[in-house]
Amino acid sequence: MTRLQRTIRHEVTFSGVGVHTGRPATVRLRPAPADSGIAFYRTDKDMLIRANLHAVTETSFCTTIGTGQVHIRTVEHLLAAAAGLGVDNLFVDIDGPEVPILDGSALGIVSSLLDAGIARQGRVMPHIRITQPLIYEDSHARVSVVPYEGRRMTYRIDFSNGLLGHQELRLELNERSFTEEVAPARTFGFLKDVEMLKANGLARGGSLANAIVIGDEGVLNPTGLRYRDEFVRHKMLDAVGDFSLIGMPIIGHITLEKSGHKANTNFLKRLLAAPETYTVVTDFNHAATIAAI
Ligand SMILES: [Zn+2]
Repeated sequence: MTRLQRTIRHEVTFSGVGVHTGRPATVRLRPAPADSGIAFYRTDKDMLIRANLHAVTETSFCTTIGTGQVHIRTVEHLLAAAAGLGVDNLFVDIDGPEVPILDGSALGIVSSLLDAGIARQGRVMPHIRITQPLIYEDSHARVSVVPYEGRRMTYRIDFSNGLLGHQELRLELNERSFTEEVAPARTFGFLKDVEMLKANGLARGGSLANAIVIGDEGVLNPTGLRYRDEFVRHKMLDAVGDFSLIGMPIIGHITLEKSGHKANTNFLKRLLAAPETYTVVTDFNHAATIAAI
């Protein structure tokens, strides 16, 4: 079986402020031809930036892509929404330096994409099928992938904080699981880190309206959590976005332990540099891989 490439049917826009820069931006999502991938266009700088691993310029606290002096911060939730819904080709016009954080989750972008409608295109979407295990490890994180006839992701976090502690989530990635289990999970941060972030010019747009903030006594947000394990779900959201930078869905079982944007992108670079560990396929036989499409 094969799976056709997809884009959106109509233009759709959303606006808001960036969580790190505090700067407002309007994003216009537009249909893109087959084989375009996800391409950002900074309308205020007249600069096209394709969302791929080579374009990643910064991975501290968010994923930033850029070329020359022009950058776009916090692309991961938009990339996750597109990947989660199987939108392969998309033009993203943006008039500022950072994708709006909205409520800190991917729900707003998911609903924009669904409002725009999903359109199948006349070309098959290639996938990366893992044929040999691959492990990336650094002093903090571990990311691995093993062959698996489906799209499975396992995420483990282990914080010393009592509220977060150990959380683990394992999902078969598809449109339904992404929309219901991952997309609503919000960005989170620790109150003790907020001052440090602000001193470094980050989190300027951050507030309880767009992030879960964890203090000594627990979650500061008056509305509490959307899931008991919202933290690991958001980490998976970030990973779905980061992993889409490789340009093709991965057929395999990816396991991430205490990972973040840096380890995610380093793992993907290692994978691309190890062609013996995968094959690019356009035809696959696992029904779950295409069940939601
Ligand atoms: Zn995030």
